[in-house]
Amino acid sequence: MIYCCEEHVDLAIDTIVDEFETFPLLSKVAVDELSTSCEYCRNSAVYMVANE
Ligand SMILES: [Zn+2]
Repeated sequence: MIYCCEEHVDLAIDTIVDEFETFPLLSKVAVDELSTSCEYCRNSAVYMVANE
């Protein structure tokens, strides 16, 4: 799964679609995980994109 910020959510979805050929499950990052950073930049992750 990929953690990403608001800006890179499209990129994360594209990555999962490319890799797994399935539309990803998008969920908001839980409050206690808000310190997790985006996979693509230094912003805090807002969404979690999973391949299931
Ligand atoms: Zn980002």
